[in-house]
Amino acid sequence: SDERENLSYELFGTAMREMAQAIADDGYEPDIILSIARGGLFVAGGLGYALDVKNLHVMNVEFYTGVGTTLDMPVMLPPVPNVVDLSKKKVLVADDVADTGRTLKLVHDFCAEHTAEVRSAVIYEKPQSLVKCEYVWKHTDRWINFPWSVEPPVVRRENQVRDA
Ligand code: 5GP
Repeated sequence: SDERENLSYELFGTAMREMAQAIADDGYEPDIILSIARGGLFVAGGLGYALDVKNLHVMNVEFYTGVGTTLDMPVMLPPVPNVVDLSKKKVLVADDVADTGRTLKLVHDFCAEHTAEVRSAVIYEKPQSLVKCEYVWKHTDRWINFPWSVEPPVVRRENQVRDA
């Protein structure tokens, strides 16, 4: 089907409660939620409240086109979380979607080197993902419209009232 997967903000709220319940029922009690910016910030916030975890960190990852190569690969952008903050901790990596899974794999492997335990939570996982996340709200092979990125950024309007 060429139908898209449409996530509304309301359905996102439901997804966060359901994912948090599944994580709690599984007995996983993360010390840290590590979000992958920017989509993962919403997920980390939602799960952080629902699981009562206040220790949230952010990882910035961007796809980088290597100079002189056709290979695209995700890279971690500074500031990278301090490994001392992660050591001996149970980490939950939070993102919006695992598509190829390369973004999540990069962060997962980084955490696996520096933490006690790492698990991953995503709203959507696609069948081709290299990483099989422990917590997935929905499996899909469609393109997903997320509520935070379905509309283009706002542009400044002329303000006739203020400038009158
Ligand atoms: P990856 O391929 O590394 O798993 O995903 C990289 C990033 O591509 C995701 O974090 C997300 O920002 C974007 N992406 C992948 N699939 C989709 C999709 O179906 N819809 C939207 N809106 N973004 C996607």
